[in-house]
Amino acid sequence: MNKLAKRAWFAYFLAAAMLVGVLVIVVRYVVNGPDWMPFQNDGVIVDRSGTVLMDNTDGRTLADDATVRASMLQILGDNEGYITPYLLNEYGDELAGFNRISGTRHMGGGEGRMTLTLSAYVQRAALNALNGQHGTVGVYNYKTGEILCMVSSPTYDPWTVPDVAGNPEQYNGVYVNRFLHSAYAPGSTFKLVTAAAALERISDIEDRTFYCEGSARIGSETVICNGVHGTISFRQALCQSCNVAFAQIADELGADVLTNYAERFGITDSLSFDGFITKKGNFDLSEATAYEAAWAGVGQYTDQINPCQYMTFLGAIANGGQAATPYLVDKVTFGSKTKYEAKTEMGDKILSASAADTLAEMMHYNVVNNYGEWYFSGLYAGAKSGTAERGEGLTSNALLTGFVQSEDYPLAFVVVIEGGGAGSTACTPVIRQVLDACVVAMGS
Ligand SMILES: [Zn+2]
Repeated sequence: MNKLAKRAWFAYFLAAAMLVGVLVIVVRYVVNGPDWMPFQNDGVIVDRSGTVLMDNTDGRTLADDATVRASMLQILGDNEGYITPYLLNEYGDELAGFNRISGTRHMGGGEGRMTLTLSAYVQRAALNALNGQHGTVGVYNYKTGEILCMVSSPTYDPWTVPDVAGNPEQYNGVYVNRFLHSAYAPGSTFKLVTAAAALERISDIEDRTFYCEGSARIGSETVICNGVHGTISFRQALCQSCNVAFAQIADELGADVLTNYAERFGITDSLSFDGFITKKGNFDLSEATAYEAAWAGVGQYTDQINPCQYMTFLGAIANGGQAATPYLVDKVTFGSKTKYEAKTEMGDKILSASAADTLAEMMHYNVVNNYGEWYFSGLYAGAKSGTAERGEGLTSNALLTGFVQSEDYPLAFVVVIEGGGAGSTACTPVIRQVLDACVVAMGS
């Protein structure tokens, strides 16, 4: 090999090495690029009707209304960094107009805009309705998946940060989004799971009667009822929330079938959307006696539900056995460009249409005969309340889960009031104000 050829080979080698180096940089840039950007959070976040919730275009400003600001704390994050700003993390690039080709923010001007499915008007109504009580309210459209309302209390106005550490009771768990990241004992709202399983697995369940004398033996222990219901039908058992009837139904279904349905209904799973992952609930009968399994079917034992996930179960009951997966971000644009747009995604078919329709109708019967239609804005609604004991000396948690079946307002909802006492008494006035607000928000 002559000298010239050797030099040529050396030049080829250099060129190849350089090419490899450039490739490595390009790949790393494409993968990590967004993290190299100083995080700008440019853009505006608005609710479904264009009300500004957060504006980062010139410093940071929030909603004009203090209650709306407080209602958004666990969703948008706080200034101190205790709460993860999930939405900005998930859509920060799109909102900042980050471009992987030019490597910079969008050069052509314009600004980022994220439109949420939430209604500031409903958020405000829900937080006002909770009136300082701790808990959560969630409402979503089970046909499209749009979340209209998700408030978590306690909360505070991020413009006037209170002394959280100095008031641990008042601000207990203030940084937690209870709707997404908490799990609660369901109390009797869990009878919906047992009722749904019974409608599919016990062919004559609708013709059965049960006899409640205030208690019943299951295995070697006694289930206590909230009253003495005498001879009652399946429908009446749900309406009056008879523990004896439901413990007997759960006992007949058995631990395996109950577990199978709890899993099928997603109780033990999490939902993920828009960067959020919901907390998993719990339904574990692996160590349960017959009595404990029956008690679990009544909503006691170690059962836990996540409010957001359970809301989708209610949506499925209302919607023939299948509901849309919830989401919060409708659209992200930068200037005239659409960077992200939500699509409706249907969840699994978890219940036969006939079982879903029957259960929905039974829940409507509850509303008419137990809770009062007055509390559901004159809409065709179904509901089931729950009162979940928290242990000695503590007032029970109050829960209400349900739906509206209406062409214009296909809504499922969940209300949890910690220490609220009796489920229906505490929660029906809250859902009334929230549904009234939904009608206004969706009508406009
Ligand atoms: Zn009873």
